[in-house]
This record gives sequence, C-alpha cells and structure tokens, in this order.
Amino acid sequence: MNLAIDAGGTHLRAELWQEGMLVAQKEAKSSEIGLCAWIEKLLLEYKKVATVGISYAGQVEDGIIHSSPNMKVDCYNIKEVIEQKFGVKLYIQNDLNCAVLAEAKEFGVQNICALYVGTGLGLGVVDGGRVIRGAHNVATELGHIPYKKTALTCGCGRNNCLELFASGSGIAKQIASKNLICDPTLEALKDTGEDSIVASFEEAFLAAVGVTLTLFNPQVLVLGGGVIEANPYLEEFILKNIKKYALPNSLQNVTICKSRLKSAPLMGALLLKD
Ligand SMILES: [Zn+2]
Repeated sequence: MNLAIDAGGTHLRAELWQEGMLVAQKEAKSSEIGLCAWIEKLLLEYKKVATVGISYAGQVEDGIIHSSPNMKVDCYNIKEVIEQKFGVKLYIQNDLNCAVLAEAKEFGVQNICALYVGTGLGLGVVDGGRVIRGAHNVATELGHIPYKKTALTCGCGRNNCLELFASGSGIAKQIASKNLICDPTLEALKDTGEDSIVASFEEAFLAAVGVTLTLFNPQVLVLGGGVIEANPYLEEFILKNIKKYALPNSLQNVTICKSRLKSAPLMGALLLKD
C-alpha cells in the first residue's frame, strides 16, 4: 500500500493507494497536528503501507526538512525517524517539484513549469525531462524573489518578497496591515472597494508569470493552487496581459492554462522515487 501526503500551509491531505486503486482519503489541519505526528497516526491505522510519498510546502533536502515559511515543523529529520520506526520507505519533496512531475506526466512534455498560487507562491520546473533542483534542492523559489519593499514580513523573514503580494498569505497580511474587516480573497476585496490590494496582487502575479516564462522558456505553463481556483478570471487576465511581462521569444507557441488535475502535488507524491 502507498501513502501519498500533501502537506500544505493550511491542510494536510492523504490518499492511500493499493494496486492502482484509491482506498482511503484523510485530512487534517496543519495548525492542529504536526506532519510527523499525523503520519505516525496514519501508519498505526494502516499497517500495510510500504511507501510514503510527501509533497511538502517548504524546503527539503535528502529527506530532511530545512524550513517551511508557512508551517510549523514537528520533526526535521522526518525520513529517518519514520523509516526507522515503521520500516517503510519515505520520500519527501517540495510540493511544487511534486506538482510539476504530475503535470509533466499529464501533458506529456519535457519542458514545463507549474506555478501555484495558494497560501504561498510556488514554482516547479521540469527542463529537458528533469526537475530543476539546484545544489541544495532550493532552486526555483519564485515566491521569495525580491520584488518590492513593504512594511510586511514574509514567512522567510524578509520584507520584499514577491509572495508578500502574489499569494493568499500576502493578501491576508495586507488586509491585516490596513485593519480591514474582510475575507482574505480577491472577490471580497473587490466588493469592499479595496482595489489597490487586488491591483498589487495582479501586477505581482503578472511579474511572477513573466519571470517564469522568460527564465525557463517552457512549452507549457500550468497555473494552479487555491487562489487560481477561486479566481478563474486570472487565466484570461494573464493571457491578455502577459505580452508586456515576458520576452517575446519565450511566448512563442507556449501553452498557458489552468491545471486539469484535481491535486497535482498529491499525484506527484505518488511518483517520487530514488
Ligand atoms: Zn520570502
């Protein structure tokens, strides 16, 4: 049996698969239980699990969690701890690296970027069929590219990240800084006449997509994540305005579209291997 987990800033989601069939789904809140504690609970319940694949919303290297801007960590050395305690094989990878693996399989292409806007702003890149990882598995951290100085503090500790503008957590921080009483969504902000936060989100989101296309020149750029799903207009918005934000050659024959997968990070977690 395979256990796939999507560990995000808000939710922990799990699927149990046996011989290609989904046998169970589980969910918990990231604020209520740590990832390691939750996996231990699941492995005590499902004793036939042989492999655990984790899509993690943070930075990981060789089975060790380095940091997570939007989530508390209850165990850094998660691979060793769980493997030794339960005799399973555990793989853990950055969530966008997992998502882009699943998207590359879905689209059947060798050059693809997955740009997700949810709690954070994340990017995964497959170039020539391989995930771009960098020396310490922290390449393509789009959300933490310096963009514009603000009075707000990013989960990484700095005050100028792209994620402070183009993400769900960024929108929430901007609302809090203005003492507004409003749901942290683009729609609610439009309803309350707070167009400046919406405009700064859109501008930063365009910059994020433009930087991605210019740097990586993909065949396909997939947009996903909770903020994209909740605001379908953003796909059309990008298609209409991207010319001003990306190098013309990088736009040649590129497909820009929303994810067709229900949960690419979870599906990617199932594809992890040595
Ligand atoms: Zn940051």
